[in-house]
Amino acid sequence: TIGMLALDAAGNLSGACTTSGLAYKMHGRVGDSPILGAGLFVDNEIGAATSTGVGEATMRICGTHTVVELMRQGHSPEEACRMTVERVVKKDPDYARSIQLGFLAINKQGEIGAWCLQKGFNYAVYSQQTPNRLIDGKSYF
Ligand code: ASP
Repeated sequence: TIGMLALDAAGNLSGACTTSGLAYKMHGRVGDSPILGAGLFVDNEIGAATSTGVGEATMRICGTHTVVELMRQGHSPEEACRMTVERVVKKDPDYARSIQLGFLAINKQGEIGAWCLQKGFNYAVYSQQTPNRLIDGKSYF
């Protein structure tokens, strides 16, 4: 999935995501990207989140909606992404160990954060203060 989250100069949040799906996917599989709350969720009052990796794992917990709701409860984007990854692990540790899934989030204040299951999740940040920063996402395993 390619997910993009933005906070504009007027303080409005937006997001978009796109995917080609998984390799060897079943015919007709939809995946998480077109499902709001799974591959993408934006609440202009709170924050926005997107995910990448095995879509079924985020669909099971409405992962990006979970991230935004955790931010609503006061957690930073990074904490919210970590807690959501931990929820995936808690549900099924063996499954979680066998897949990649990552979350990326931004809040209304422009703070960003990300967390994923396996190492190797990079994301890019652009702002007027820090053009084109490439960041290594933190991982559970
Ligand atoms: N999340 C996508 C899916 O499961 C795969 C990806 O592009 O990361 O369809």
